[in-house]
Amino acid sequence: MASGLLCRLFSFLIVAVALLSAQAARSQGDLTSNVDTTQIAPGVYTFRHGFTRNMFLVTSEGVIATDPISPASARLLRQEIAKVTDLPVKYVVYSHQHWDHVLGGQIFKDKGAVFVSHNKCAAHFERDPHPDLVLPDLTFEKNYTLELGDRALELIYFGRNHGDCFVAMRPSGTSILFIVDLVTPGRTSWATMPDYAPIDYIRSLKELEALDGFEQMIAGHGLIPLAPKSAVTERRAYMEALMAAVKKEIDAGAPFNQIAGTIDLPEFKYLAGYDQNIKGNAERMVYYYTMGW
Ligand SMILES: [Zn+2]
Repeated sequence: MASGLLCRLFSFLIVAVALLSAQAARSQGDLTSNVDTTQIAPGVYTFRHGFTRNMFLVTSEGVIATDPISPASARLLRQEIAKVTDLPVKYVVYSHQHWDHVLGGQIFKDKGAVFVSHNKCAAHFERDPHPDLVLPDLTFEKNYTLELGDRALELIYFGRNHGDCFVAMRPSGTSILFIVDLVTPGRTSWATMPDYAPIDYIRSLKELEALDGFEQMIAGHGLIPLAPKSAVTERRAYMEALMAAVKKEIDAGAPFNQIAGTIDLPEFKYLAGYDQNIKGNAERMVYYYTMGW
């Protein structure tokens, strides 16, 4: 058990160090910079502003951008895109409905970009509008492939998990998925895991793990531009251990309002954010088991 954990930890560190070194080699000082754009594959880039990142795909007829993040981030994203191509942004695709990812797209809308999301995101946006949110022009119900020039972006829907309109995105010709919020490589989940439906979340992670042709991922948060697929398995294992630990306390008759503070998962202490988030993460599971959501 201990050697298995060490082996996993060591493998993860090797990959993380290799990726960070590669990134630093491409552009000195990236990790101390507030903005970074890294090319991941031919035509595939990830843009980071602070702790939030997106992906954009450069095709022969223009750019498919994803989450604009915020008005300030979107302005920086536009500058970064202009450094790699003169072609216009033709599409902006939303990963899900949360405002920490989808605001600020108006500067692309003003130049004629078409906004795309799952139709359940559109329903959220209409119910809870935001002055910095551009509503989608094009929506879809199941999986959808957005084609532009010589490339395509596959949008893969899993139903409810984190919200109910999340899509993973795969650029054509790659084994890379852009996965926002469902996985933050090498970290725990955040705080009290707002808008996560635990059982469907774990189901979706298993479906991601089972996807053919998926090898690496870009996350929606964090400094690591590209992580191995094992980051999905790492998160699923953490979630399963968290749920099992909480369920054990409930089954033992512990008062439900005292359980979260007692949960400890030593095998996951290596994850960034563990000390800050374990109680909130556990609290979310207590609510799931005791209140049905
Ligand atoms: Zn979110």
